[in-house]
Amino acid sequence: MSNDHPLGSAERPLRVAIVGSGPSGFYAAAALFKQKDLLVEVDMFERLPTPYGLVRGGVAPDHQNIKAVTRAFERTARSEGFRFFGNVKISEHLSVEDLYAHYDQVVYAVGTESHRDMGVPGEDLAGSFNATEFVGCYNGHPDFQDRDFDLENVTTAVVVGIGNVAVDCARILVRDPDELAVTDITDEALTALRKSAVREVYMLGRRGPAQAKFAPAEIKEIADCSGADLVLRPEDAEPGPVSAGWLESLEIREQKNIQKNLDFLAECASSGEGTEARKVRLWLLTSPIELMGKDGRVVGAKLERNSLSIKKPGGEPRPSGTGEVQEIECQLALRAIGYHGIQLPGVPFDDWYGIIHNEGGRVIDPDREKAVVPGAYVVGWAKRGPSGLVGTNRACSFATVDLMLEDARGQTAPHDEAHTADGALAFVKAHQPDFITFDDWQKLDAMEVERGQTCGKVRQKFTSAADALEALRS
Ligand SMILES: Cc1cc2nc3c(=O)[nH]c(=O)nc-3n(C[C@H](O)[C@H](O)[C@H](O)COP(=O)(O)OP(=O)(O)OC[C@H]3O[C@@H](n4cnc5c(N)ncnc54)[C@H](O)[C@@H]3O)c2cc1C
Repeated sequence: MSNDHPLGSAERPLRVAIVGSGPSGFYAAAALFKQKDLLVEVDMFERLPTPYGLVRGGVAPDHQNIKAVTRAFERTARSEGFRFFGNVKISEHLSVEDLYAHYDQVVYAVGTESHRDMGVPGEDLAGSFNATEFVGCYNGHPDFQDRDFDLENVTTAVVVGIGNVAVDCARILVRDPDELAVTDITDEALTALRKSAVREVYMLGRRGPAQAKFAPAEIKEIADCSGADLVLRPEDAEPGPVSAGWLESLEIREQKNIQKNLDFLAECASSGEGTEARKVRLWLLTSPIELMGKDGRVVGAKLERNSLSIKKPGGEPRPSGTGEVQEIECQLALRAIGYHGIQLPGVPFDDWYGIIHNEGGRVIDPDREKAVVPGAYVVGWAKRGPSGLVGTNRACSFATVDLMLEDARGQTAPHDEAHTADGALAFVKAHQPDFITFDDWQKLDAMEVERGQTCGKVRQKFTSAADALEALRS
């Protein structure tokens, strides 16, 4: 007699593993629980002891309003059929093959955890970091707590890039530490910022003001920092003839958004140096071509002025070096030029874009004529690449879940021990007994808030799995 049952029925729920607990993972879980025609069970795996991905480890400590989105994720975690397995790394404690053996569908929500390099000499000098390291350090991300940001000996910093991450880094470097002291920033980072000698931060963008990726509100936050001025050279506020022509070819809505940035940057340029002690100097059409070192440490940067040209009809203005080179002194360089995914063994990976190969969220295998990998899906930054705000991931995850439901509806599956909640739990326990449940996380969460209250912060984070586990045991 057949042991098969309709997939998504009470006898044989649809069993889904979500790898990663950032926004895209939680939005995928929310979408799965929102539909009512299939019974779904979700196990979420997270390599860190704590959930929420970049909302906890990326979003800046002075953006607490953004972090409030975790309340919606908590509601999803309380759904019947949801389990969280923190401190479980897929590729270390369990393999993707293990997941395929225990779940009908696997959703990769692993983000893009590595970074892009500039490819210029001197990048490996002491004092040269990726923004990921600086951000992870001040946010208490366990991977980056050993980085030493000796800001006491830094008067000038360079931040390469003009996206949101670069803006965050520059703002944290010039912000009054007293304003950060009430947030969830780590004590070590706060101490480093209190001792900081930073007076100037150069933010470098290789293209012009019309191509700036930040929104007016984001760059304005720097201008609004007490104790710091945002300074632009007049020539950097001018879009120039190539960009002016290109702007006219854009849709009116896009033109208006860019014009808002241009108006704000022109206003900054006309305000001159300002009177505050710290300066963020936004230099556009400028690329670092070398980090200069002395005794193995960064002491300066060689910068080349760029000009823009359009290489093919309908294309965007692209920068190229003019040969005009200038040197500046600096003791810290942060590269914020983009994140890049890390390949999970067994999952087709597009090394150029740094994302998982997919079509609309279904994982595909380019080595097999782009055949769909059965039961494998991807959401969030691992699907689209590292751009978009927290909320952007919602529609992205919901779209992938639509495909998952389409693939599951009308299917049957055998009722075997491996594909049960108990079977999967026994398997996880055998491979990583130190996993952290959502109840455990809620205890840690309460402890972090309580620890924070004793020192006037919104929370004092646990910054390693060992500390989190010890706190739970005691
Ligand atoms: C520095 C920075 C600041 C930002 N600030 C803002 C902001 O102010 N406002 C805003 O709206 N957006 C902001 N964003 C964007 C926002 O954080 C992202 O849109 C969002 O986090 C992407 O979600 P994700 O789920 O795809 O990836 P992530 O948030 O990166 O989540 C991926 C998760 O997968 C886990 N993982 C990875 N590999 C494995 C594995 N092998 N096994 C188990 N788990 C694994 C990771 O630990 C992580 O928890 C910021 C981004 C950055 C980088």
